[in-house]
Order: sequence, then structure tokens, then C-alpha cells
Amino acid sequence: MLDRKPDKPVVLIVDDTPTNIHVLAEALRAHYRVQVAGSGLLAFDVIARQGPPDLILLDVMMPGMDGYELCRRLKQDPGTQGVPVIFITAKSDTQDEERGLNLGAADYVTKPFHLPIVLARIRNHIQFKRQSDLLESLAWLDGLTNIPNRRRFDEDLETEWKRAQRTAKSLALVMFDIDYFKPYNDQHGHGAGDACLRQVANALRNGVSRPSDLLARYGGEEFVALLPDTDPKGARIIAERLRGQVESLRIPHGYSDASPWVTISVGVACSAPQPDTTATSLLETADRQLYAAKSAGRNRICCSA
Ligand code: GH3
Ligand code: MG
Ligand code: MG
Repeated sequence: MLDRKPDKPVVLIVDDTPTNIHVLAEALRAHYRVQVAGSGLLAFDVIARQGPPDLILLDVMMPGMDGYELCRRLKQDPGTQGVPVIFITAKSDTQDEERGLNLGAADYVTKPFHLPIVLARIRNHIQFKRQSDLLESLAWLDGLTNIPNRRRFDEDLETEWKRAQRTAKSLALVMFDIDYFKPYNDQHGHGAGDACLRQVANALRNGVSRPSDLLARYGGEEFVALLPDTDPKGARIIAERLRGQVESLRIPHGYSDASPWVTISVGVACSAPQPDTTATSLLETADRQLYAAKSAGRNRICCSA
């Protein structure tokens, strides 16, 4: 049972004669969840069923697909290319080691191995991987509000646009901009401005509910929501709800012509993508609607359809 603790890193051992590394597997069980596959094909099976492990220990000489070929394929697949691979093999020529490392393996250990050294190498590689995963995830987050950033949004917009084209489903894009935020900053101070941005981001984040919805900070005091499979009617309801949620935060704003509270203006664009249109046109439409909401007096939504 202890083996299933979710925070225990997972190590997949791929070896046609696992008894070869039986000692290692036993030693690993104290700190890792250990998976074993007897061939390259079985390794793909395990990964397909359980998801990519945190590290793979890979034998070189196996019938059918050898370790080099398996490593090459793992490094080609975006789903597994980040998983550190350590070859554990009786092939001790420097050329073999060179080949393994050139295929992208993190390390190369020859048998017979010294157990404490192998365990230390495994621990180090898993730690490097976790650190690089953390940096990678931070690169997609906005530092102030802790919600996804513009970079994440740009990526997701492309992906969702293509998906919507394939499935012929409607994709909604909603842009939000805080009203009179410059005077808010000028009068209440930049610190209060930052705190306000965090509160607004939180309210917006809590207002989009489907797992496929994305709320991101687009820049400055602008936010954006990407809502797959959402028609104009649905998008309008969500946009109005989010506008209301920000208003009901009741953040005092003494310098807004729209309300005694901090409010947002909202532009909604919705489209079932046509083959000859681009994601940018959806963004431009939402931006035009946002501008219309501002011109019409702020603290309101405007929709393209
Ligand atoms: P409008 O109602 O037309 O949207 O007017 P506005 O004053 O909100 O718009 P404007 O674009 O003139 O000003 C945006 C302000 O947002 C200016 C800038 O000081 C503030 N701002 C942008 N990013 C941040 C931030 O990260 N922190 C803080 N505190 N303020 C920010
Ligand atoms: Mg703005
Ligand atoms: Mg503004």
C-alpha cells in the first residue's frame, strides 16, 4: 500500500531478465514506486497505462527492440522525452557508452555496479528532473496573480483553435479589462493595485469552471478566458457572471466614473472556426468588443454575436 503513495517517484525498470537487477529493484522499493517491464514493447504498455515514470532504468541487450532503440523512441515522443533514462548494462565499451549518451540517456552504468553509487545517481537525476519540471511550470504562470500567463494562453489558443476547426465546435474568447485602473493605482498606490489585481484574478478564476476552460493574465490589468465548446449564448452568460463577481468583491474605487467599486469591462467573441480564418481574428474581435464596452460606459459586456 505504501508503494502507492502519490508523491513517491516512479522508477520503471526495463530488462528482459529482471533478476539481473533484482538487488537494485529491492533497494529502490524503499524510496520509489517500482514498475518492471520485460521488453521494450511492454515498457510502452506500462507507460500508456500508468503515464510516464520519473526515471527509466534500461537494459541494452534485449530480444526484439534493444535498449538503444527504445531510448531513441522515448526521446522522440514529446510525452516521454523529458524522462531521464539510465542505461544499466553489461556492455562496457566506451563506444557503447558514447552511443547511449548520444541517444539522450542521462547516465550509463555498467554491471557489475556498486549499489550505493547507482542509488545516488538515480536520486540526483530525479531531483534534477523535478527542479526542471518546477521551472517549466513556473514559466507558464504569472508571478503576481499565480494564474496562467500570456505565454500559456498563446499556446492554448493555437491548440484550441485547431481543435475547434477539427471538431467544428464553437470556441469562445472573453477579454476583461479593469476600469479606470490607472487612477486606482495613482490614488491608492501600486501595492494596492497589485492586491486588487490578485483579487480580480481570483474572482475570475473561480468563475470559470470546466476543466478545459483557461483563464490567463493577458498583460497589465487585462485578463482573458478561453472557453472551448461554448456558444455565444453560453459565453455571454459566463461573461456577465464574471463581471458581476468582480463587482461584488466591493473593492472601493473612489476615482472611477463607472462605479464606487472596482469593475471590469468585457468583450466576448465566439466562432466556429472556418478553415481560412486564424485565431488572431478571434482575439481582434474580442478586443473590438472590449473597446465597445469601454465606449458604452464601462462595467458592462459587449458580444460579437
Ligand atoms: P480604462 O478604464 O479605459 O481601462 O482605463 P485604465 O486606467 O484602466 O487603463 P490604462 O491602460 O490607461 O491603465 C492601465 C493601468 O494599469 C496602468 C498601469 O499603471 C496599471 N498596471 C498595469 N500592470 C500593473 C501591475 O502589474 N500592477 C499594478 N499595480 N498596476 C498595473
Ligand atoms: Mg488596459
Ligand atoms: Mg483598464
